[in-house]
Amino acid sequence: MYRRVIIARIGEIALKGLNRSKFEQRLAKNMKQATSDCGEARIHWSQSRFYVEPENENYNYELAMKRLTKVFGIVSISLAFETESEFDKVRELSYFVMERKLLSMDGQTNIRFKVETKRGLKSFPLQSMQISAEIGGMLDDDFEQLLVDVHNPEITLYIEVRENTYVYTDIIKGCGGMPVGSNGKACLLLSGGIDSPVAGYMIGKRGVNLCAVHFYSYPYTSERAKEKVVDLAKLVAKYTGTIKLVVVPFTDIQLAIDENCRSELSTVIMRRSMMRIACRVARMNGCSALITGESVGQVASQTMQAIYCTNEACDMPVYRPLIGMDKMEVVAISQDIGTFETSILPYEDCCTVFTPKHPKTKPSLKEVVEEEARYNYKELENIAIENVEVISCS
Ligand code: ATP
Ligand code: MG
Repeated sequence: MYRRVIIARIGEIALKGLNRSKFEQRLAKNMKQATSDCGEARIHWSQSRFYVEPENENYNYELAMKRLTKVFGIVSISLAFETESEFDKVRELSYFVMERKLLSMDGQTNIRFKVETKRGLKSFPLQSMQISAEIGGMLDDDFEQLLVDVHNPEITLYIEVRENTYVYTDIIKGCGGMPVGSNGKACLLLSGGIDSPVAGYMIGKRGVNLCAVHFYSYPYTSERAKEKVVDLAKLVAKYTGTIKLVVVPFTDIQLAIDENCRSELSTVIMRRSMMRIACRVARMNGCSALITGESVGQVASQTMQAIYCTNEACDMPVYRPLIGMDKMEVVAISQDIGTFETSILPYEDCCTVFTPKHPKTKPSLKEVVEEEARYNYKELENIAIENVEVISCS
């Protein structure tokens, strides 16, 4: 029986210069963590390939493959069979892998195929083209349902001749990006909507560790609404690793704004308070930026003028990865990463509960700051920060 090995390919990491090994080490660590409940395996790498070599066949390959497609830094993965780098053994293994693949194709005939070889082991007596031609010819003779077609194949049999030789037929797409933890930490403002989980995913994909903050207006928003946000954080954490979610009680601040400030400015004033609190939570958790799901013009609080007023309240960079995207583009990503179904569950968000009928779409900073002075935000924000609830989401 041949040993099975998972091969993971890297993308952007391979473009790194002197510090490349730091990124590789981080990726190996993240891969190990993501597959820790799949069984014992050794992870090593060489050139642009990472190898997951399980200690025995009890290893949960299927789960490991699923997990690895969510590890940032990996561009694609394959489940390969391994043998020694000797031509006869490679030929036998190629036959075995092709036979196995054809069994899964249910008696189909006239199947177009090709063989593609990479030869990393320069001492191997045949060159890659010769290996492909020899093995392709053999498979063509041995399996009557196969036809060689190098331009438009349905099956490609990949052979990688390295210290050992790996043979496989399928390549599964990964997420790409950079390994989480290779690029600092940022604090995601996570609502229960469609946008913010996608924003967190996108920045996480650049190698950034996440923590999250959620503003919660109990009893105007329900316990279920909070649970939904926890579920969303867990879904994002499947890609980024554990996310510490800081839940901030926001009811008193919203009530004070509602009572004291002109309703047409209340949303912008509320969002300024969120940003100030988020900056403080971020600093306490070692973050050097905030992340929001804002997109220019999507709602009244996201016009150029409103974002100008909101942004002025915080003193650290704010990443808005969705800023130039259409809603449909964001929806497509959320479906792809698996957060959409949870995001559309119909629980209320603290923003929507207190939404004014006629929000001002072009507020000026001067009027917002004047209006904001009508309530004691400093004290209320201190109290809110003292009463946060922390939930670890993984
Ligand atoms: P989303 O789909 O992410 O809820 P949205 O389209 O509803 O976004 P807004 O309600 O204006 O837009 O919120 C803009 C951004 O502000 C959100 O993407 C999120 O980053 C942050 N935000 C809004 N409400 C909350 C909340 N209750 N807790 C934490 N962050 C929030
Ligand atoms: Mg929202």
